[in-house]
Amino acid sequence: MPFAWQSKRPLEYGSGMTFLRQIISSKISDQEFEEKKRFYPIRFMNKEHLYYYEIYKKQVGEIPKVEKNQKICPGCGTGLHQKAFHCRICGYVLNSVKLLDYGLKKESNIDKIQM
Ligand SMILES: [Zn+2]
Repeated sequence: MPFAWQSKRPLEYGSGMTFLRQIISSKISDQEFEEKKRFYPIRFMNKEHLYYYEIYKKQVGEIPKVEKNQKICPGCGTGLHQKAFHCRICGYVLNSVKLLDYGLKKESNIDKIQM
């Protein structure tokens, strides 16, 4: 069982997600990213976020409007339940700015949870 010998590392490295992210980011120029950040009402975390948003917009449509008794997602502007801490539309994590920084910070949080 060779997989059992592999060093423990975040899923996104072993699965090739980091490679996929590089490909997606390389498809969007800095200029296009800046223009679309101004054009769309979304706070994009990175180019990958923009890439997936455009797929969402094409396949699903507009982001749902805020309804009564909902709070507004700072990331995309959709409505969130009062007790929600994560936006299911854009992935924004409320009250946890550290989790927005992908990479080492997220890994270290996971380590703390596992211990
Ligand atoms: Zn959102």
